[in-house]
Amino acid sequence: MLDWTMVGEFYSFGILLLLFFRYCLFERCIAKSTRRAMFVRCLVLSMGLIVLNTVCVALLNRPNLVPVWVNLALNTLYFLSCIFCCSFFAFLLFDAMLEHVYDKHCLRRAVVVLIILTSISLLILLLNLFTGILFYFDENGHYQRGPWNSIYYLLLMVELAFLGICYIRNRRSISDQMVSVMRSIPPIVLLLCVLQFSFPNVLLNGTICALVSLAIFLSFHSHTEEHDDLTCAGSRKAFVAELELRSNSNQAVQIVQICLLNLADINLHYSHKHGDALLYEISKYLRHCYPHVRVFRTGGTTFTILLPLGSESEADSRLQEIETRLQSPWTLGEFACRLSCSIAELRSQSLSGSASEIIQHLEYATTLAKKRQAPVRFDQEVDQQFRDRSSMIDLIRKAIETHHFQVYYQPIYCCKKDLFCFAEALLRLSDETGRPIPPDVFIPLAEESGLIRDLTWLVLEDICRLFNSGKYPGLEAVSMNLSMQQFLDPNLPQQIAEILTREGVEPRKLKVEITERFILHDEQYAKAQLDTLESLGIQIYMDDFGTGYSNLYSLLQYPFDIVKLDRSLTATLPENRSAAIIIQTLLQLFRELGKRVIVEGVERAEQAAYLNSIYTDMAQGFYYAKPVPAEELGPYFER
Ligand code: C2E
Ligand code: CA
Ligand code: CA
Repeated sequence: MLDWTMVGEFYSFGILLLLFFRYCLFERCIAKSTRRAMFVRCLVLSMGLIVLNTVCVALLNRPNLVPVWVNLALNTLYFLSCIFCCSFFAFLLFDAMLEHVYDKHCLRRAVVVLIILTSISLLILLLNLFTGILFYFDENGHYQRGPWNSIYYLLLMVELAFLGICYIRNRRSISDQMVSVMRSIPPIVLLLCVLQFSFPNVLLNGTICALVSLAIFLSFHSHTEEHDDLTCAGSRKAFVAELELRSNSNQAVQIVQICLLNLADINLHYSHKHGDALLYEISKYLRHCYPHVRVFRTGGTTFTILLPLGSESEADSRLQEIETRLQSPWTLGEFACRLSCSIAELRSQSLSGSASEIIQHLEYATTLAKKRQAPVRFDQEVDQQFRDRSSMIDLIRKAIETHHFQVYYQPIYCCKKDLFCFAEALLRLSDETGRPIPPDVFIPLAEESGLIRDLTWLVLEDICRLFNSGKYPGLEAVSMNLSMQQFLDPNLPQQIAEILTREGVEPRKLKVEITERFILHDEQYAKAQLDTLESLGIQIYMDDFGTGYSNLYSLLQYPFDIVKLDRSLTATLPENRSAAIIIQTLLQLFRELGKRVIVEGVERAEQAAYLNSIYTDMAQGFYYAKPVPAEELGPYFER
């Protein structure tokens, strides 16, 4: 009777079974990767190993139950399973370790080493049938351990050593999960081997398999945040991690970012279920479009794919193929639709810069692709634009800190009273050499970078200083331009009111200028926001009227006091008859609706004379006054 203890093996079987069910039955993701399949194979093989071991031990305890050759065959099969189990686990770990290396020659070398080691082990197993060097049956049919019985632990050690070498050589591109695997598995295996040698009667082979599987599972597969359940693509976090590994090891990559523009419409017109199914289909297509492709859902409607970069022409044709497929119809059962998407691309022979820099480049290319409605590649030209933009944003930031911005005021002329009564505040910025930068350049960048908030408060404080100086009694009110982003801020009215109260400036002295664009964005919200401003006593100007596309009737529902007719309408006055008719009609219309009008862009005496002749309320333009610093407003408002 053998006094071998199998308890550890039974517990291990339980652990393996749990992992198997958790992995195969409860994983919501339908996508199968090679690593997943390999892991499942390792689990099954490990469970088989324990079952076989149990059968062998049970039969060895009853020597006469079956003929010796059956025991010999079963034990040989058990040793065979041990060899394959070691090699499968080792392959799984090599594969996971080299996952972020496109150059697969290292993996190929690892496979060759594994094949050689496995073949040597098989040879020894074959030899055992004739020599009994691993195990044999004595004349009484009892199992005896041979002199090389523990040789497979040596195999295990050699494989661990190779894994260690591979780990050290590729450490720059090894993921955090793999690092945790490599920190836990060797100590576990070594400890169990030492235990096995110290207590040869306690069987521990299955325990080694179970603990190694558990370490792999805990490191890789329990990371749900690495994965997007809906699309089976990697998460944004996984993308950043992957990018870091690729850039640390200077690998050549092609990155394509696809932003779906009409998914909200699809959700709305069909259903969210259809939208989800479509996202899954797109992800599935991308996941299988090329070998070694990795797909990530980096935003709700954004996929980013990473490919090894071969030749330029290959990269071109891949991009073209992806673009063509995305633009073709997508059919899901009875539902078919077309996608509208923007595509940005970045190629790099060696990824220089940090992951966050690369992501910024991709985002910039995506923004351009949306604007241009065509795919944009982040090449040298776009890179230069990006740098210019970044240095401009830096300049704005610095100018805010060092109070380099200036506020100019352009007086507005009241035709009926024949004097200047209002002014518009306009921001001015110059670069290091003193060259002025047009607001049309820095305002959009300040909006994009979120710095516009600081600029608005800067303008408002300057306006308050202007009134509090008490120098210009003729100045009835100053208007301030608002950016869309600020207009959308629900705290805006309250914040303006607070500053006015703090500075002791009456709300009626401040006007805010907004454009039709703001209203189109969200009509209900705009109405509420404008009503709040009105209730605080702050009047609203409708700026650049005539450049938007809004419905005139709906516009009139909003509480505007003054409408500013855009200078594009004035430019050809008074010679252009159509322009003259439009201006006259608009003036009459607004007058009848009880709203006043400021005509913008008056540059010539004939324009001014014509506007006077048709009883324009107010006019603004270089003919009357150019924007000037506050100190130079004297001639206009010092009565
Ligand atoms: P806007 O609100 O339409 O401002 C009027 C622009 O027309 C100003 O250009 C002004 O200098 C210019 N202008 C005035 N009279 C004439 C004229 O007779 N002929 C011509 N050709 N132009 C004239 P500026 O200062 O370059 O500002 C451009 C735009 O930048 C503004 O257009 C406004 O949308 C934006 N902006 C300026 N300051 C601010 C600000 O403080 N905040 C925000 N959010 N936007 C601002
Ligand atoms: Ca304006
Ligand atoms: Ca304007």
